[in-house]
Amino acid sequence: METEKTLLVIEDEPAILRFLRPSLEGTGWRVLEAATGRAGQDLAATKKPDVILLDLGLPDGDGLDVLKTLRQWTSAPIIIISARGHEKDKIAGLDAGADDYLTKPFGIAELMARLRVALRHASSRPEDAPPVYEREGLKVDLTTRRVWLRKKEVRLSPQQYDVLSALVRHAGRVVSHKQLLKEAWGEDRVVTPESVRIFVHQLRRKIEPDPVRPRCLKTEPGVGYRLESPNE
Ligand code: CA
Repeated sequence: METEKTLLVIEDEPAILRFLRPSLEGTGWRVLEAATGRAGQDLAATKKPDVILLDLGLPDGDGLDVLKTLRQWTSAPIIIISARGHEKDKIAGLDAGADDYLTKPFGIAELMARLRVALRHASSRPEDAPPVYEREGLKVDLTTRRVWLRKKEVRLSPQQYDVLSALVRHAGRVVSHKQLLKEAWGEDRVVTPESVRIFVHQLRRKIEPDPVRPRCLKTEPGVGYRLESPNE
């Protein structure tokens, strides 16, 4: 049996906690609650949770400040929970070291999927990433830099490959425009989000059976992109 994992939820809305606790405890998670940033910092330090779920609008201050303080000493995965329309906050959170975000309201299946990804990334070093990604007929082999769609080899430009491999290394997690630019183009290059969009559109035409309804390379509106988790 797997050892029990601990989730710390820093959130002041009782309704969210009432909804989360039974489902999570039913799947073997221990749930700790903190209704303020201060209490959250204390619990994070004393209980060393495996994953932290952090609301950005807290009664005693900005969740972003809590995030920045946490990141000074813990590498535990931190998933932001934030309302739709707060894309700027989500981006600021990712830039400040959050691993991912969930948009309120979210379903329990979505949360569980994010928790699995967070744990997988937390337990593996980047060099341990599985060298082959497979999902929905798309196959990317990081060791040989080769890509296939439905068993047919796909020719990508070197830059298209660099973007795709950056997404593969973060599979299951959101990659912000800024992160993607940094990983695929290098920090010194000036690339606009608009040109990233065009670029991703061209990439989708090569790796998605139906580029209009992508199954792998999803857009996270206003924030960035997410390559869905590989097939289990
Ligand atoms: Ca709140």
